[in-house]
Amino acid sequence: MPNAADNATECRAAAGGNSAALLHLLGCDLPALRQWVEQHGHQRYRADQIAEWLFARGADTFAAMTNLSKALRAWLDEHAIIYRSHVARESQAGDGTRKLLLSWPDDTSVETVWIPDGRRNTACVSSQVGCPVGCRFCASGLGGFQRNLTAGEIVEQALRVRRLIESGEPGSTAGRLTNVVMMGMGEPLANYAAVIAAIRIINAPWGLGIGARKITLSTVGLPKQIRRLAQEDLQINLALSLHASNDELRRTLIPWDKTPIAELLGACAEYFAGTGREVTLEYVLLAGVNDQPQHARELGHLARRLRCNVNLLRYNVVPGLPYDRPSSDAAFDFQRRLRAEGINAHVRSSRGRDIDAACGQLRRAAEHQ
Ligand code: SAH
Ligand code: SF4
Repeated sequence: MPNAADNATECRAAAGGNSAALLHLLGCDLPALRQWVEQHGHQRYRADQIAEWLFARGADTFAAMTNLSKALRAWLDEHAIIYRSHVARESQAGDGTRKLLLSWPDDTSVETVWIPDGRRNTACVSSQVGCPVGCRFCASGLGGFQRNLTAGEIVEQALRVRRLIESGEPGSTAGRLTNVVMMGMGEPLANYAAVIAAIRIINAPWGLGIGARKITLSTVGLPKQIRRLAQEDLQINLALSLHASNDELRRTLIPWDKTPIAELLGACAEYFAGTGREVTLEYVLLAGVNDQPQHARELGHLARRLRCNVNLLRYNVVPGLPYDRPSSDAAFDFQRRLRAEGINAHVRSSRGRDIDAACGQLRRAAEHQ
């Protein structure tokens, strides 16, 4: 686990890479904030006050931090920054799902989605700009990989969604942010340190206070990192993007990942043993490719080896990619076959399809995580 000093260094690096750059406070955990303010001659408890303004109250200016002295607020203004992104675009789907395009100072951008579902409000956040994995069916890998997001940039996305939920704007339902899923752009376990630091801030009582069981990390499956995650003392939900019922098929869909399925499932079993959390296997149904009866049979055999449940997602068509969305009958037929094998399987509804078409990505089955 990084110590406070590492974290402060990372926060500073995140803010621009040199010591003169502004510290991105949303990426700092409480110990790092305490160390930072003390190093600069301020009292330690000031960090606790700042953290409360940032994470509990959602302040977006230092001027709003009215229990800090004017001098301290002026000092913060000079040395730190709260939000680094601006909302470049916002769209709303017919089902209420809202997508934000957040643009960073280096002109990169990521998508972040708010998925309302009754009293549940989920933020679907990105972990990287682009994705190095390049799954054949996914829009995120199409433009290649640009860069990792910092912890602060990940936390910022969740806070942007929370602000939207709490804004009371037309179209927003009163409520609070209840769930966070790492299912946006990028492969979270390929950006391990920043993702874990962000999850800790999202989870912490002094942070966003979202319970670990309400946080889900979805991965294409890096077994070493899954094992490491099992040791983190974080009880978050793990979702493995399996998408194929045998190694050969998986390699055609995800050529980047040569790991045998047996090894991936072994790492998931370790995750279950280490955390007590049942793993979710995600399976995107691609018409005529992986949705046939023999695939259901094979998948059933694989899933039986593990304490897991299977989420079936109907493919969201990405223009230019050679895959089709199966009918809902085909999806339910696949589910019935899995259930006949004794597997707990669900067909997840596609949220925000009409606004997802562009990225093909951020339509998520997040509502039941
Ligand atoms: N990189 C991680 C997390 C982001 S993708 C991962 O792959 O798990 C989150 C989920 O969306 C993955 O299961 C992914 O396979 C799925 N997905 C990607 N493109 C999709 C599409 N066009 N339609 C449906 N699901 C898609
Ligand atoms: Fe990356 Fe996940 Fe898309 Fe694969 S499905 S390209 S791992 S974001």
